[in-house]
Parts: sequence; structure tokens; C-alpha cells
Amino acid sequence: MYKTVDLRSDTVTQPTLAMREAMLAAPLGDDVFGDDPSVNALQAHIADITGKEAALFMPTGTQSNLCALMTHCERGDEYIVGQLAHTYRFEGGGAAVLGSIQPQPLTQGATGEMQLTDIAAAIKPDDPHFARSRLLCLENTWNGHPMRLAYLAQATGLARERGLATHLDGARLFNAAVATPDAGADAYAAARHIASYFDSVSVCFSKGLGAPVGSALCGSRALIARALRWRKMLGGGMRQSGVLAAAATHALDHHIERLAQDHALAQRLAQGLAGIDALTVRSAQTNIVFVDVTGGHGPALLAYLAQHGVLATGLIGLRFVTHLDVDEAGIDHALACIHQFFKTQAGTAAPAQAAGSAVY
Ligand SMILES: *Cc1c(COP(=O)(O)O)cnc(C)c1O
Repeated sequence: MYKTVDLRSDTVTQPTLAMREAMLAAPLGDDVFGDDPSVNALQAHIADITGKEAALFMPTGTQSNLCALMTHCERGDEYIVGQLAHTYRFEGGGAAVLGSIQPQPLTQGATGEMQLTDIAAAIKPDDPHFARSRLLCLENTWNGHPMRLAYLAQATGLARERGLATHLDGARLFNAAVATPDAGADAYAAARHIASYFDSVSVCFSKGLGAPVGSALCGSRALIARALRWRKMLGGGMRQSGVLAAAATHALDHHIERLAQDHALAQRLAQGLAGIDALTVRSAQTNIVFVDVTGGHGPALLAYLAQHGVLATGLIGLRFVTHLDVDEAGIDHALACIHQFFKTQAGTAAPAQAAGSAVY
């Protein structure tokens, strides 16, 4: 009997015992007064890792990105962003709704890159007809793809040349760092290198790092001081939040190097699927495996897996995400179930309606 193998997202992890002990032991204050020592320690630590002057602990990545957008842009400004980027597509339109900031979405290639010529063409001249182009926003990893350093350098270089600020949605910055060996000698150095191209970086502790809650926005002291006002206005001023910050600090200290194991498990899953005609692995670069399913088998496969204790998301394109709470045995169980499905069930399964998209 297997415990559930939950591959829906790397957000489903439970805090480890050691993490819970760190939370229990955390000295606490009131962070709205600025005197929670555990929050202050986390902010200093993540600012140091990302090579920025300051950082601000946030309840979620969505709030962290929104604070960044509202700090870089004023009413009537615009940010250039990928059509499928989280900050554009998966955050409820917050920049437009709450920030009066116009998104300028651009088509992305298969690895998430927007073409430099498209970025250049989207930057608008100073003319009252246009919104003011103010910010370029990238995402790394994007759908599990680590971005090429050369691309980061070129895209942010272009933005800077044209007077735009740059923000990185680095919800999975450390997955990118671990998967970009030319970025630095170790994961911290690589994360700092990737962050160095940007004026601000948002990182999530609640994804692959395994903390229950939390993100941080990192940037210059001046930027973070402005972001603090927005965070308060958006309802993100928390009190004894050191209990959460302690979990994030524990994650930074103990759960970064091990991300390589998640990436290896994703590879193991991808390789184990080779040879099933109805499945095509689209990508498995870090901890996210995207699989295209032909023949309309997606929904039946997902339902079959769920019956056998394996959870994933998607319909035509399935998404499997590895993390702290999945091991080799779990991946092998998932593989065995998938092989079994195509041996016994697929022939009899009615092709189902296909629609929908991956869930974050
Ligand atoms: C999860 C995620 C976010 C937002 O994080 P929440 O904490 O869920 O609000 C932002 N960007 C990317 C790329 C993400 O995967």
C-alpha cells in the first residue's frame, strides 16, 4: 500500500519535523513594528543570497509580484511580460485591477523566451497616445524551464538601454539556480548571479523549498521601502510572522542543494514514460514534467491514477511536479500505474472531452 504520491505541485509539501522545530523555537516580535527578529533575519539572509540590499517577507508570491509591479510602475505605466507568464495570466489581473498598470503581453517560445525584437518593438515612444513602458518582467524557471544566462543578459540589457526597470518572478529561482551550472559554483552563487540581472526578484519559499507559506521580494533599499507601503495597503502586514519566517530560513539553509534530487526524480519519471506511444514528454528540465497525451486518454488516465493514489494535473497536457515529499518509490509507483493503464484500460476508455490548462 502506497501513501498518496501527490505530483500536482511542489506546493503540497508538509513542513518537516526539523522545520516545525525551527518554527517552534523562533523568537517572535510584531513585524508591523519591524521588531520580529526571525522576520528580520530571514529578510537579511535572502537579501544576501540574492545580492540585493534589502528584502521584504510576503505571505504569497502573488502579493510579492504585485508589490513589485506597483513599486516599479505608476498608474498609466505598463509592464512587458510573457503571454503565459504567471504575473500576467495567473494572478487575477492584479496589476491592472489594483495597480492601474497596463500589461503588454508578448508571445513566448517553447522555453518561455520572448524575442528581443518583439520586446524592442513593444517599448513605446514617449507620446501621450501610449502607456509609459516602464518595466520588463521575466520568469525563471518558466514552466520548469531554466532561462539561458545569455538570454537574461540580452533581455535585461535591452530593457536597461531603453530606460526600463527589470523584475524577475523567481518563484522557482533556486530550481533555476541548481539547473544552471554555468551560473555559479554553488546554488547560492548561481541564484545571486541570476538575480544580478534584475532590479528586483521575487522568490517563493512555499514551492520546492518546502515551507508552508511565504515569499520574499528583494531589491534596493529604496525599492523595498516603497514596496513596504504597498504590502501594508494590500493587507500583507503580518504580526508574529517570524513563526513563518523561521520555516523559510530553515528551507534556505537545508532545502536548496537537495532540489537536484527533485530534478533527478523528474528525469526518472520522464525516462520511464519513454516507449508509451500515447505519451510525449514535452519537457522535464527541472522538477516539472509536461506530458502530451494523444488519443483523448488524458482524463481517464488522471482518474485511473487518482484511484491508485497518484495525483497530477492537466487534461491533454499532463503536469507532474516532483518535490520534497516524493521519493523514488513514489515515482516508480506512478510509472507502474501509467504503464498498467495503457496495458489494460486505454483500449476501452472512451475518448474524453479535452480542455483546460495546468494549475499552479
Ligand atoms: C506559484 C507562483 C507564483 C505565486 O505564488 P503564490 O504564493 O501561489 O501566490 C508566482 N509565480 C510563479 C511562476 C509561480 O509558480
